[in-house]
Amino acid sequence: MEKRGNACTGCNYCKGCPNNVDIPKCMEEYNISKMLGSPIASAMHYFSRIPKEQRVENCTACGDCIPLCPQFLDVPDELMKVYEYFGDEFTTFCDLDEK
Ligand code: SF4
Ligand code: SF4
Repeated sequence: MEKRGNACTGCNYCKGCPNNVDIPKCMEEYNISKMLGSPIASAMHYFSRIPKEQRVENCTACGDCIPLCPQFLDVPDELMKVYEYFGDEFTTFCDLDEK
C-alpha cells in the first residue's frame, strides 16, 4: 500500500463537482491518515464528517475538476486511491490489515 498521500492543499479551487463530491475534504482525511499514520481516526472522520453523497464513490471521472487544480493533480485518479484506501463503509475499512 502506498505510504504517501498527494499534494492537495485544500485550496477549494475544484469545488463545484457536478456529482457533489467534496474533493478537498476527502483528500484531507486521506492525506492526514497517510501523514500521521492514524488510519482508524482518519477513517472515523471520513465516514462521520463527509456525507455519503459527497464521498469519492460518487466521482464519475468526468474530468471537470482536473484543469481547476493548481497542483496539477489528476483528481479522479487521486480520488480512486482514496476510495481504495477507505472503501465505502467504516466496517470494511477496519477489516483491512495494512494501510
Ligand atoms: S472527475 Fe469526479 S470529482 Fe472531478 S468533477 Fe468529475 S465527478 Fe467530480
Ligand atoms: S484544486 Fe487541487 S489542490 Fe485545490 S482542493 Fe482541489 S484537489 Fe486539492
